[in-house]
Amino acid sequence: MVSRPPTFCPDCGSRLESTVADDRERMRCPRCEAVVWHNPVPCAGVAVVDRDRPDPAVLCVERGIPPGVGEWTIPGGHIETGEEPPEAAARELAEETGVVVDPGDLEILAASAMPPRSGKHVVTVHYVADWADADGEPIAGSDATDARFWTPADFDASDETFRPVHYERFREAAALLD
Ligand SMILES: [Zn+2]
Repeated sequence: MVSRPPTFCPDCGSRLESTVADDRERMRCPRCEAVVWHNPVPCAGVAVVDRDRPDPAVLCVERGIPPGVGEWTIPGGHIETGEEPPEAAARELAEETGVVVDPGDLEILAASAMPPRSGKHVVTVHYVADWADADGEPIAGSDATDARFWTPADFDASDETFRPVHYERFREAAALLD
């Protein structure tokens, strides 16, 4: 299995051929006689919501590495092999913002396919957590150039851009009631 459309066999290096399997075009190695599956990559993220203010705000990060440098997103990233999704979400949050949450405190917000970039498809499980249950103060960590709380109204009034699917989750998380 690969995350980008394959050209060569990852096992033997042969050039792949197009074939049809399960009603979809696939790439197949003629030497190994096997399909090289191209599948989405699972990711996890968490929207930390501060409800203890007039308008709920969500902890967001500004991306410092490609793809999408300068875009705001919900903190998150790839799930490591053997890692549970809530653990991955909490780990990525800590890496990118310095804020620590207990994976057991996370609740699922949504699971959705992200628009592909360079042929790489990602499916992200987004969680929500309460700022009241979190430890630490937001500081931009790995892969991020800024980390701060935004209310949807403040964000919309700014010149900043949000990654489209993440923006929906941002709005949903801010609109959640206790
Ligand atoms: Zn092969």
